[in-house]
Amino acid sequence: MKIPDISVDNVPARKGTGGSAAEAPERDMAGVFIIEIEELSHVYMRDTPFETKAINGVSLKIRNNEILSVVGPTGCGKSTLIQHLNGILKPSSGKVIVDGCDIWERGADLRKIRQKVGLVFQYPEHQLFEETVFDDVAFGPRNLGMAEGEVQESVKASLLFLDLPFDRIKERSPFSLSGGEMRRVALAGVLAMKPRVLVLDEPTAGLDPMGRRKLQNKIRELQKEQGTTIVLVSHAVEEIAEISDRIVVMKEGGILLEGEPGEVFSRHEELKSANLLLPQYTQLMRLLKEKGMDVRDDIYTLNAAKDEILSRYP
Ligand code: ADP
Repeated sequence: MKIPDISVDNVPARKGTGGSAAEAPERDMAGVFIIEIEELSHVYMRDTPFETKAINGVSLKIRNNEILSVVGPTGCGKSTLIQHLNGILKPSSGKVIVDGCDIWERGADLRKIRQKVGLVFQYPEHQLFEETVFDDVAFGPRNLGMAEGEVQESVKASLLFLDLPFDRIKERSPFSLSGGEMRRVALAGVLAMKPRVLVLDEPTAGLDPMGRRKLQNKIRELQKEQGTTIVLVSHAVEEIAEISDRIVVMKEGGILLEGEPGEVFSRHEELKSANLLLPQYTQLMRLLKEKGMDVRDDIYTLNAAKDEILSRYP
């Protein structure tokens, strides 16, 4: 597909779910999408007895400044898919276009792509390795060739953004920190590269409920205040129900469903076929409806459930 020459920089960031991209005229659509995946397939260990087709002809467009969640059961291809977003994996076939640039075209600068699209793996704290927090967070920016002054400023801003006290923590060994702090230091290392897109694989796994809530709030803050596009990966819809603008449900290497949370959560049978449980508030509204109450069952947050029940049964 030919991408018209419209830079996303010229397009106002979409805040929240607000306006529908579908309403925009076609000529403006290239600026709306920061990443476009076209007919992507990925085969591991091709032509061996262990050959596995992990991704099978997936097409997906990621909008500038949205929070997009990719959910699906273990083994459906989520991790494989996201490793294509910044060129860690090379497609067996298909294309990945980041900010209008086909990342596997001759001459494409993968280093620039990896700065634009920051990837945070599951349990990123396992990858901390430097002697001090500062050096660990500075590793990525230095690798990108950022000037030392900018590195200093960026490391400090990232740690402070994640509520880590820069002055007290910068000289400490990352291994002397608590699990939650280590997770945030690892995340700061990616944020310090100032990515336009942040891809997080199960970011809240293993955190306690408060740590999970705080991290979700930070993710939302990044989207709203810094205009970052967020891609979240999870095997559980409960984790991403409240935070997502849009949800993609994967099954067996393909996309089963795609839409806004309310739309996706109303497709109960398809979700069940992908071994996914509905969010608890959706389950509650369904049960109430089955018992004869006149309520909507496409609701997935506590507040929306409360408002719906009170509006029907004041
Ligand atoms: P998910 O993230 O949804 O759990 P993955 O992308 O990790 O799914 O895996 C998709 C499929 O690809 C699975 O069948 C998995 O066993 C296989 N797979 C993943 N990584 C590799 C690899 N490095 N080598 C071979 N097969 C792999």
